[in-house]
Amino acid sequence: MVAPLSAWPWENLGAFKYLLFGPMLAQVVHSRIYEDGSNYMSSWCFHLFLLWHTRFWFFGIFSSFSNMLFINCGRRINHNGVDFNQIDLEWDWDNFLILQALMASAAYYTFPSLEGLPLWNTSGLITALILHIGVSEPLYYWVHRGFHGQFLFQNYHSLHHRSAIPQPSTAGHATFLEHLILTAIMGVPILGSCLMFNNGSLGLIYCYIVMFDLMRCLGHCNIEVIPHQLFDAFPFLRYLLYTPTYHSLHHTEMDTNFCLFMPLYDAIGNTLNSKSWELHRKISSQIGIWIRLTSQMIVRINL
Ligand SMILES: [Zn+2]
Ligand SMILES: [Zn+2]
Repeated sequence: MVAPLSAWPWENLGAFKYLLFGPMLAQVVHSRIYEDGSNYMSSWCFHLFLLWHTRFWFFGIFSSFSNMLFINCGRRINHNGVDFNQIDLEWDWDNFLILQALMASAAYYTFPSLEGLPLWNTSGLITALILHIGVSEPLYYWVHRGFHGQFLFQNYHSLHHRSAIPQPSTAGHATFLEHLILTAIMGVPILGSCLMFNNGSLGLIYCYIVMFDLMRCLGHCNIEVIPHQLFDAFPFLRYLLYTPTYHSLHHTEMDTNFCLFMPLYDAIGNTLNSKSWELHRKISSQIGIWIRLTSQMIVRINL
């Protein structure tokens, strides 16, 4: 028997899972045809639908980039290729996008004050940043450490770690329970600024979610794109921003580097992998274009 909430509720639907967007799409179409289009719920559904599309293609573009060996072969962290087993395993990586769209619809019905958010409010951005650093980051750190306990790891988190070579779709590859918790963690800065401090905006929701996706893709792209010179110039930045090398180390040495995006919490929790910066420097120093001529022969052109 599988552990409670480990399987996705629409696991048996296959490609028909996208029909779950049907009611949202129907709401938008109905409003455009039969109403004047100003119904806020239809516009909320429109934004959810637009956001889902944007995120889906964003992950796709990041995956394409991480597979462009002709420009990034020298910066690859793990030089092995992704095998067919991993591709099959991560086939439904986008389940969390559906879950988050459904949870956002539920949030709209639960909190009517979400109606009529302004397009932009700068103070909301600051509130969200504070809530992210002060609540979401430590919460994720402790929950992630908890998921490495024997029971939770065996029944839930091991699925994410079964992907031997991280790639952007690996970021979405986890159990239903883990993504429920991650969605709640993402929701803290958004709902906090919109509901508690009344300075949220549509722009904030778009920016926060796209930045969150960007950072998740970055950690799993298997290409070191952060130059070590950045950390040389601003040493404290290495505690505020993780790198692809940093999260890859979590996939190989699982008792270290648990943070969401900020290594500061690993430093506080004494779980920071001592090889993190040295390995990052080594990989990010490899400047040049690598060309794979045959399966055995790789030529490097120094720039
Ligand atoms: Zn983990
Ligand atoms: Zn990971």
